[in-house]
Amino acid sequence: MLNMKDSSEGMDLKGRDVLVLGIGASGAAAAKLLLQKGARVTCSDRCEEEDVQRKAAFLRGLGCRVELGAQREDFARGAELSVISPGIDPSIPLVRELAHDGIPIISEIELAFRFCACPVIAVTGTNGKTTVVTLLEKVLLSSGRRAVACGNIGRPFSEVVAGENSPELVVLEVSSFQLEAIREFTPWIGVILNITDDHLDRYAGLEDYARAKAALFRNQGSRDWAVVRAEDKSVWEKYEVLGRQSELLFSASETLDNGACVEEDTLLMKRGGRREEICRRRDVALVGEHNIENVLAVAAISSICGVVPGVLRETIRSFHGLPHRMEPIVTRGGVRYINDSKATNPGAVIRALQSLEGPVLLIAGGKDKGFDYSVLRQDISKKVKAVILIGEARERMRRALDGVTEALYAETLAEAVGLAAERAVPGDTVLLSPACSSYDMFENFEERGEVFKRCVWGVTKNDTQLLGSRNSGVRSQNEDASGGI
Ligand code: ADP
Repeated sequence: MLNMKDSSEGMDLKGRDVLVLGIGASGAAAAKLLLQKGARVTCSDRCEEEDVQRKAAFLRGLGCRVELGAQREDFARGAELSVISPGIDPSIPLVRELAHDGIPIISEIELAFRFCACPVIAVTGTNGKTTVVTLLEKVLLSSGRRAVACGNIGRPFSEVVAGENSPELVVLEVSSFQLEAIREFTPWIGVILNITDDHLDRYAGLEDYARAKAALFRNQGSRDWAVVRAEDKSVWEKYEVLGRQSELLFSASETLDNGACVEEDTLLMKRGGRREEICRRRDVALVGEHNIENVLAVAAISSICGVVPGVLRETIRSFHGLPHRMEPIVTRGGVRYINDSKATNPGAVIRALQSLEGPVLLIAGGKDKGFDYSVLRQDISKKVKAVILIGEARERMRRALDGVTEALYAETLAEAVGLAAERAVPGDTVLLSPACSSYDMFENFEERGEVFKRCVWGVTKNDTQLLGSRNSGVRSQNEDASGGI
């Protein structure tokens, strides 16, 4: 058995038997890192689809043993360590048996961290992670730091660590799933952007989900930093993970003595009695108050990293956001069309609605993650003149929204866009902000957003090319950190 306590200086994996559970992007990258470190690697994935078969063949070519489908009974025999992919629920029998046999179970970020030679800035939260990680990487690169964004954003942490050129700073997008199986993982700067309901298919409730996120700060000490939204500080204090490290807060609604905040229309950074102007509200090209929060979080982290305000300001001004996040598509006949396909939970939809002024035709629905959609009632009643519902969740959503606004069903996204366009008048906004993941009708949120854009660009609603398909070949970022055995 590998003694995890003796292994904080990397891990001596030479000749050790290691299991990798799940060969999605992070599992495959973990397997390669393990091979590089001399381990004997056995991989397993429940899925036997064609692209997984291809990946399995590739890993076998590198020297891994790979089993697809159901595991044989003696599959885990001799294993000294296991690396678990984020999509695998730790409560499944195989993982419970490994734990019962005393085999250490770690996440891919824990593995990569053990071999990472530079400080890590780790960003988590329910929403805004990719936006913040992308903007932060740009800011750091503009200030001459060799920073690399990785993790849930697309490129696995293990791949960066296994690469030849070690960066100066890693900016890691972290999901709560990855945090479930950490041991020594310690970010120099840990950031939790916000917390609202998500992943209720995995967690018993918000409390459980927040506890998983709070693990980000658990190992930090006096040289480290915790960056949190001022409004959420009390949430994290409950888990007793703050106090040992330094703290820096951000808030778009409270004036702070120490932290990043807004006064009048100016974004400010206040630290140790110093007050620096970051930029004006109008300099932020991103839509919505939630993006002011994201920019303030980036400002707080940048300040810890010693970035000068001028560089920060210029990067903020030139950052127009990412596709599928409050992405303006076109204004036609006075009607604005916005693609917010990445809004896969109600919290993101609430912020989307709050950032729009006029009447909204909302297209929502998709794969049901078990949310209480009635949390949307208030903002929908204020802004939404009709909600057009698609996908698996539509019936539950309609019931939760009963009486707040007109609700219509559509079979396809194309039909939904058609129904919205018929009802829209100049000054209205047609918003795709689903509150659900996409997997019931699409390959991923990117495909859903692309289909929406093509519909909006005026392709007829009967065009079968526009119907949701599961095989578009669009590559996904981790929508729900899924994939697994
Ligand atoms: P993540 O990587 O956490 O999923 P993204 O930056 O990809 O975050 O944005 C996902 C969704 O959340 C989008 O709909 C976006 O408009 C919304 N969003 C972005 N930042 C925030 C925030 N700070 N608070 C709430 N919603 C946000």
